[in-house]
Amino acid sequence: MGKKQYAVIGLGRFGSSVAKYLSQMGYEVLAVDDNAERVQNVANVVTHAVSADSTDEEAMRALGIRNFDVVIVAIGQDIQSSILTTLILKDLGVPNIIVKAQSDLHGKVLNKIGADKVVFPERDMGLRVAHQLISPNILEHIELSPEYSIVELQVPTAMLGKSLMQLEFRQKYNCNVLAVKKGGVMNITPRADEPLTAEDILVIVGKNDQLTKLEQAYAEA
Ligand code: ADP
Repeated sequence: MGKKQYAVIGLGRFGSSVAKYLSQMGYEVLAVDDNAERVQNVANVVTHAVSADSTDEEAMRALGIRNFDVVIVAIGQDIQSSILTTLILKDLGVPNIIVKAQSDLHGKVLNKIGADKVVFPERDMGLRVAHQLISPNILEHIELSPEYSIVELQVPTAMLGKSLMQLEFRQKYNCNVLAVKKGGVMNITPRADEPLTAEDILVIVGKNDQLTKLEQAYAEA
């Protein structure tokens, strides 16, 4: 099986960043924008850069857009174009369509018309930055579902020297420690009776509200 082929439509800050990264990682990327200058900006980085209007079905057909495994629609401001483009890609039979949404409502529409994945980069980055400010010990936050997450927690001072058994995360927060990372080494069968050190990073799965409780209970003053 050959490497996946990607097309990115809309070469603003988000789209051009996606296109450039995929290219750097060695993937074939078709970059499309109706603004020739934007196309020019990525032309020497990606495999093909084309100036076209993605709301023009014939133009999309001519580009052979349905032969791409994944198409990323990164049109932000112009919601109508984003929706029309998604519809056209769906009609043409693109197997995997990922669309950037500007708002919750925009996202809802995209889901309804068959976008395979809707992303909210500004919202998610905002949350991430705010979260990082409030809980600097949380190194990573992976959303598993709207209710459940995995977090990576740098062991806070209040946990130092205590063992997982003593901390009783299961009983108190209904959370499970999946692994303990130390110096980049992942231990997926952590001992319950070993005292935690400041270098340890706990990988914890749980319900969001319980994880928040746990974080707050051990937040540094
Ligand atoms: P960002 O917030 O990521 O910078 P923008 O909304 O500013 O995103 O950029 C969207 C890009 O999509 C712009 O470069 C714009 O020219 C392009 N674009 C908008 N509508 C169309 C369309 N119908 N066909 C092709 N490109 C489009």
